[in-house]
Amino acid sequence: MVSIYVLLIVFLITFVVAAALGRSWFHRRLRRPELLRRICLVAGSTLLVANLASVFLEAPELWRTADLTLTLGGLASLGVALTALRTGGAPARQPRRVLAIGAHPDDLELACGGTLAKFVDSGHEVQGLVMSDGTRGGDPLERSLDAQRGAAFMGLTGMTHYNFTDTDLFRHSQEMVGVIEAAIARYNPDIILTHSNHDQHQDHQAVHMATLRAARQHHSILCYESPSATRDFSPSVFIDIDDYLDAKVQAVRMHSDQRAKPYMTPERVRGIASFRGGQARRRVAEAYEPVRLLSTEMEKL
Ligand SMILES: [Zn+2]
Repeated sequence: MVSIYVLLIVFLITFVVAAALGRSWFHRRLRRPELLRRICLVAGSTLLVANLASVFLEAPELWRTADLTLTLGGLASLGVALTALRTGGAPARQPRRVLAIGAHPDDLELACGGTLAKFVDSGHEVQGLVMSDGTRGGDPLERSLDAQRGAAFMGLTGMTHYNFTDTDLFRHSQEMVGVIEAAIARYNPDIILTHSNHDQHQDHQAVHMATLRAARQHHSILCYESPSATRDFSPSVFIDIDDYLDAKVQAVRMHSDQRAKPYMTPERVRGIASFRGGQARRRVAEAYEPVRLLSTEMEKL
């Protein structure tokens, strides 16, 4: 019969390998990198101290038998804590509020999923708005659920869905301006993210225009890059998403209803991030066109 200790050791090794390989994906599954880090630090330290105590004290037989398990458990927990430290990012000195607006259920993940996950882990509050349920591109119920799953995975504080007519959002321009104005009044965001005008999808253009009208008094608006961006998309603001590309790929994959679309593949998502990273002189990045941007807002992110 396989000893319980052998099973425990196998489990712990698997845990550490999963943590090391999965990186941000692993930690987002556990939702709270900071909490994970603290739990592992406490567990690791306790186990190692217990192990030392068993060496120097008159430990019971059962305790001494478990020596190896205690050691490996302690080291594994400390290893996970260190990995979480690497991917958790430095907490923001001044938390900001970010409002991200998309036309369809998968737009935010595809365009700025790495940025939003990174913001959340840094302690910023991110709210999402989606204008349509994507009826023309797939099953609306499934797509709405996928959007909720994607938002939860990235760690958004809230996600509000509207059912304006998919592919015909220009017809709802005035209503969209109204709901975006209401969201700005409700959340008082420091930065607003939205679609670019340099995009061949008419719904993306409609949301871009509606955002600009609703946020006409706002000082910081960044336009993100969708897969349907045109060659005129010319970014000058880049967010380094090193350590967050895996999380972005996973958030995009949560839109299972859309998996057959060529721009949903991990290769395409990673390729765009790598291309923009090269422009930004980083490994991977997400790119933005600023409508206008108060410099202090970027410094605090
Ligand atoms: Zn879209």
